[in-house]
Amino acid sequence: MTGPVTALQAKTHPVWEAAADLVVIGSGVAGLTAALRAQELGLHVLVVTKGAVSDGNTRWAQGGIAVVLEGEHEQGDSVGKHAEDTLTAGAGLCDDDAVRSIIAGGPAAVARLRAAGARFDPAAAGRTELARTREGGHSAFRVIHAGGDATGAEVERTLVAKAGDRRIPVLEHHIAVDAIRTPAGEVVGVTVLDHDGVPGVVRAPAVLLASGGLGQLYHATSNPEIATGDGLALALRAGAQVADVEFVQFHPTVLFTPGARGRLPLVTEAVRGEGATLHDATGASVMRGVHPLGDLAPRDVVSAAITRRMAQAPGGIDDHVLLDATGISGFAKRFPTVHAACAVLGIDPAKDPIPVTPAAHFACGGVVTTVDGRSGVLGLYAAGEVARTGLHGANRLASNSLLEGLVAGRRVAEAVAADLATGQLGDPRRGVLASRATVPVADRDALQRAMSRYAAIGRDAEGLSVVGSVLDLSMVESPLWTPRIVEDAALTLVAEALVAAAARRTESRGCHVRTDFPERDDSFPERDDSAWQRGQLIRLSPSGQPVLADPIALEVVA
Ligand SMILES: Cc1cc2nc3c(=O)[nH]c(=O)nc-3n(C[C@H](O)[C@H](O)[C@H](O)COP(=O)(O)OP(=O)(O)OC[C@H]3O[C@@H](n4cnc5c(N)ncnc54)[C@H](O)[C@@H]3O)c2cc1C
Repeated sequence: MTGPVTALQAKTHPVWEAAADLVVIGSGVAGLTAALRAQELGLHVLVVTKGAVSDGNTRWAQGGIAVVLEGEHEQGDSVGKHAEDTLTAGAGLCDDDAVRSIIAGGPAAVARLRAAGARFDPAAAGRTELARTREGGHSAFRVIHAGGDATGAEVERTLVAKAGDRRIPVLEHHIAVDAIRTPAGEVVGVTVLDHDGVPGVVRAPAVLLASGGLGQLYHATSNPEIATGDGLALALRAGAQVADVEFVQFHPTVLFTPGARGRLPLVTEAVRGEGATLHDATGASVMRGVHPLGDLAPRDVVSAAITRRMAQAPGGIDDHVLLDATGISGFAKRFPTVHAACAVLGIDPAKDPIPVTPAAHFACGGVVTTVDGRSGVLGLYAAGEVARTGLHGANRLASNSLLEGLVAGRRVAEAVAADLATGQLGDPRRGVLASRATVPVADRDALQRAMSRYAAIGRDAEGLSVVGSVLDLSMVESPLWTPRIVEDAALTLVAEALVAAAARRTESRGCHVRTDFPERDDSFPERDDSAWQRGQLIRLSPSGQPVLADPIALEVVA
């Protein structure tokens, strides 16, 4: 076992090298859960994060954690029903075993988090039973929450505090760039850059990507600045495969703010769970007749319905619809975060309808892994939003992702410990630094505009090819020598992968809505099962281009 580096040691050397058993990229729910468990198992862990410790998506999560707790659930609800709802939302693309395994791990994961000090909202003052709400696609009230609509902040607070108590070293403001690999291809560390582009190296036989999502591919997103898809790009460059990247979930309701770009405040789905309804400017219901669950239909259905309604508005395209929450009593107390964001715009949800619009929210796909985070590349692991375990399929069920981070974060640490114990991981001393070759980097603004216009909800072949052309025209070759270029290169590569997968999937399914192929296509005459009921695997070609595997020959090799 090697010793961990401290942030101080790293900072005092302009070019430095450190070692650990496990380097965790990211300090959100998945990364910190994994780091804590790995340390319990006796591993020397180093967490590297490109922002401050709590700058990930996790702290922004509002609605809650979907979980069916033992002896504390709606009558008739069960872990099995939660799994069924997950499979339904996933539109035929979930991995059944992964769904059942991860959902079954939820109750114990939440119990551990509560034991670590997380406080969830009680059903009533002084009672231990937790309050439960319902969100889109759930057939029961099973979403627990904290601070009203500040669940992620409580999860992050708990994990950061525990990591601090345990003195887990966290190297903040350092961005992971590329994997270090042995000549045999095993991953045995990462290169990193600090704010000023000063390079460092962390050698470790195991590297965990817990780097979150990719919402910054689009102009309007609920995701913070860090969500630039870095982990996917790093994994692809390290030889791993990604899948389901065409399925980006758009949250149906972020707060519409005229002229705003980047992260927009979320209006949690739980607001509709408590009775709010969507209307257009004429007062007509958006969801009536669209889905049996009405305003609580799965997110892809609601987002697509809002997008269609906006496009049908008199005079061309409208940019928002209205969410009427005036019937919810005590709105400010139940949804303090949403209330505060509305107040900034002079909106009082108790009296005024809330203007809302869909925005990029969650990456359903990612690095292909097993349910315990092993990718197809020895020494490289992934957990949380960056991973594709098969839990989410073509559309994530609301509030399943914090749960996945908690369950997969713990399991991946156990997988690393087991792999270290059997001696199957690579030797970090044999790691060779990737030569500073150049990679294609597109202009971020041009990329975001093209992705939002042509590769959001409602794509077609022509629009997707326009994105390809915009990327080609704005791309330059550059070494990865500043944090900004690392992020822009990741956005470029992930956009290329997403566009390739979206262009080939000539059907609509889950979050992937093709206007030129509006129906889901489950037919496939030459085989028992549909070609489209499978994830599309992507890897990098030797020349660095993302290439799709033949859908007929798909085998998930993790
Ligand atoms: C507004 C909002 C509301 C949400 N509400 C809910 C909800 O109610 N329930 C639910 O289950 N889910 C919700 N989600 C989704 C959920 O929050 C995320 O999927 C989950 O928190 C992801 O956790 P993670 O650990 O995978 O990544 P994150 O929490 O995003 O953490 C990623 C980490 O990786 C770091 N990082 C990224 N790239 C690099 C790099 N190259 N080098 C070093 N560090 C890097 C980041 O700095 C960060 O520390 C919501 C998301 C948003 C944005």
